[in-house]
Amino acid sequence: MSARQRIAVVGAGLGGLCAAGFLQRSGFAVKVFEQAPAFSRIGAGIILSANATKVLRRLGLEDALIAAGIKSQQYISRAWDSGETMYEIVFDAASERRHGGPYVHIHRGDLHTVLAHAVAPGTIAFDHQLVELDERADAVRLIFANGTAAEADIVIGADGIRSKVRDCLLGAEAPRFCGAAAYRAIFPADRLNGLRIPDCTKWWGTDRHCLPYYLTGRRDEVYAIGVVPVSHWDGDEASVPTTREQYLASFAHFHADLQRVLQAVQSVSLWPIYDRERNDCWSGGHDSRIVLLGDACHPVPPYMAAGGAMAVEDAAILSRCLTTFGDREEAFASYMATRIPRVGDVQRISLENSWMRGPTDTDWFYCYDPCTAPLAPPL
Ligand SMILES: Cc1cc2nc3c(=O)[nH]c(=O)nc-3n(C[C@H](O)[C@H](O)[C@H](O)COP(=O)(O)OP(=O)(O)OC[C@H]3O[C@@H](n4cnc5c(N)ncnc54)[C@H](O)[C@@H]3O)c2cc1C
Repeated sequence: MSARQRIAVVGAGLGGLCAAGFLQRSGFAVKVFEQAPAFSRIGAGIILSANATKVLRRLGLEDALIAAGIKSQQYISRAWDSGETMYEIVFDAASERRHGGPYVHIHRGDLHTVLAHAVAPGTIAFDHQLVELDERADAVRLIFANGTAAEADIVIGADGIRSKVRDCLLGAEAPRFCGAAAYRAIFPADRLNGLRIPDCTKWWGTDRHCLPYYLTGRRDEVYAIGVVPVSHWDGDEASVPTTREQYLASFAHFHADLQRVLQAVQSVSLWPIYDRERNDCWSGGHDSRIVLLGDACHPVPPYMAAGGAMAVEDAAILSRCLTTFGDREEAFASYMATRIPRVGDVQRISLENSWMRGPTDTDWFYCYDPCTAPLAPPL
């Protein structure tokens, strides 16, 4: 496809910034429109497995990623009551070689600071909330809440689970409440009073789980996400404040080792969890100029810690398709044919909440390289 094409990416999240970075390197004229006034350091962490970190390496971001986060050395699954180890994976030099990249935990705010370097200065237009798309035969017009407008040859909707681009393509449809909510707390590791915890542990209960992990290589900051069943959720807010007492009460019957970690929590908030039913329609069909990636087209519950990695993989594959194919429709068709089977597997495993609960083949997931994997022929 001609690199003179103008590409508008809506959303400066994980997927949007990676796609913009790759497309700029291929010579496209890329602009990213983000609704937020600036990146902020919201209180949450994220795990990026090797299938995602090797993509960030291609964007020249690996060193900064590791410096800001932690190269994890191990993940352990433990039973909520006995504390028995159900599964363990060690991340050492040999596994990093086999997977092709490290396994990294990082504060989301720090990740955004790193990702901002994926694109040339001035690429991101903050405070630009997309409100409308007008797709014409020769271009797409983007209209923003701040009263401005822009024009592009291709629009990539990377605007997350409540995607406006998706609404424009498929019609407005609220995401599905999963019947669960996540406590999210970050606190200094010295509040553990000398307790050394593994880099990442998942405590598995019958209807809930809790995942404490370090956020920095100095192991001085801990993030503990605890997912509990909630029958319904009223209101549109992304999160509500809650208390350490509430968090502890929700995991009161869990093993003493987890209790000691949760005792260290200071402030905590509760986030409802949403996803969408699988929908394999990621572009507007014949001759469309609009395509979706990441949570905009396939949000999953966060139980496999893979939604962000899927957005990053999408970005790498979509960029390759747009660079490889001379025709937009073929590029979108190959992108979807390449991505849908793998994303479908991840969606199924996330819904089951079965990833690494017991002995698990992880190589198909971690060893995958979206920068070199074969592109499926356009359907
Ligand atoms: C509790 C929880 C824990 C998780 N943990 C992990 C994990 O450990 N590992 C992992 O890989 N994934 C995890 N995920 C999933 C991961 O966060 C998402 O899958 C990932 O952020 C999706 O990336 P994205 O780029 O598609 O969208 P997002 O990261 O959501 O980015 C979308 C961007 O679009 C912007 N935007 C939205 N609407 C508009 C608009 N109208 N105009 C302009 N801009 C707009 C938003 O402000 C945002 O910056 C977790 C999710 C949750 C809820």
